[in-house]
Amino acid sequence: MIVLGGQLSTAKGLDYAIFHAAQYGLGTLQVFSRSPVGGQSKPLPKTGTVTGWLEQAHIRPFFVHAPYFVNPAATEPLMKNRARVVLSEEMIRVKRLHGDYLILHPGHQQETSIEESLDALSQTIRYILKKPGFVLIENAAGQGRELGASLDDLARLFAHLGRLRRVGFLLDTAHAMAFGYALTTADDVSRFFDQLDQKIGLKRLKGIHLNDNMYPIGTKRDRHAHLLTGQMHPEGLKKLLALANGQNWPIILETPGKDMVARHQDLEVIAQLTGHELKMS
Ligand SMILES: [Zn+2]
Repeated sequence: MIVLGGQLSTAKGLDYAIFHAAQYGLGTLQVFSRSPVGGQSKPLPKTGTVTGWLEQAHIRPFFVHAPYFVNPAATEPLMKNRARVVLSEEMIRVKRLHGDYLILHPGHQQETSIEESLDALSQTIRYILKKPGFVLIENAAGQGRELGASLDDLARLFAHLGRLRRVGFLLDTAHAMAFGYALTTADDVSRFFDQLDQKIGLKRLKGIHLNDNMYPIGTKRDRHAHLLTGQMHPEGLKKLLALANGQNWPIILETPGKDMVARHQDLEVIAQLTGHELKMS
């Protein structure tokens, strides 16, 4: 079944976001627990309240996106320590919010080799997993010195992590296309998931950020776009949705806009390609 969701703003409160998602018939949800670019973190709702809201709204899994003002792949001691402190706090916030997963971008390569950066990243992940919770690594677009854009780098990262449980993978389709993976035809999509299975293992895949990308494939430029308005084609998207449907991979829309009103067209595209019934308030 299609488990559909979106990244929603919590500016009007987390309860507002959760019930907004429910109004649009969403079964999953993603939020930031604090401003992703820094600043003081907001106080959390009282322990126990969020789980009730999620239950009432039938939202699961509940994804929390980690802030990206720290670099989890930092090798420089001060930056490395800062990432560990902030991300460990974030693990605790996810637990308090009754979230299922913390989504983490792999970070940036500093003045070291890719191998050393991946090693530093795996150490940071091990460090934050001293806290309870589950971490998902999201593939990057490969802009600038971004790590973790290629399936090969991600495979090396997972090799560093070994049999560590409570760590999985989250696929962002816009980032994958920006890096150079075409998801145009049904064959492209099948080939991509075969590679993903070979290099990382589909068992690791816990969700998909379903976004189109404005810039051409392989340009390493990432700007999320509404579905079928960028590099995606109906055939490839249909195949991807069929796979997600078959495997119950939750889908999170991070297309432009802060709520589902702004993503109405994306919901319509998905409904047309899958026969998924739209529930609109
Ligand atoms: Zn994403």
